[in-house]
Amino acid sequence: MGLLVILFFFGLAGGIVGRIKGSSFFIWFLVAALVPFFGLLAAVCYRWDNRELRRQCPGCGRILKLHDTVCTRCGEELDFPDVAIASEAEMRERRAAGRTPA
Ligand SMILES: [Zn+2]
Repeated sequence: MGLLVILFFFGLAGGIVGRIKGSSFFIWFLVAALVPFFGLLAAVCYRWDNRELRRQCPGCGRILKLHDTVCTRCGEELDFPDVAIASEAEMRERRAAGRTPA
């Protein structure tokens, strides 16, 4: 019983870390609960999804990560783009900065 509680809290911590980084809470909850400690470590070391630069698919217009090579919606093969779209985190910071008078 005690072990289940420990696994639950590992899962919770991993899920929260994953969520903060713009990834799935549920996936990281499972990873951290099933592989205690190392799963949580993986969540902490995992790249910040919402800090990645983004790009738009020329085929269907879907917003993808800059490092994606194939569109996940239409399957279009993607060259490295000339223009990147700012990451979600960056956009949020810009919006927050815009609210304060200069
Ligand atoms: Zn596409």
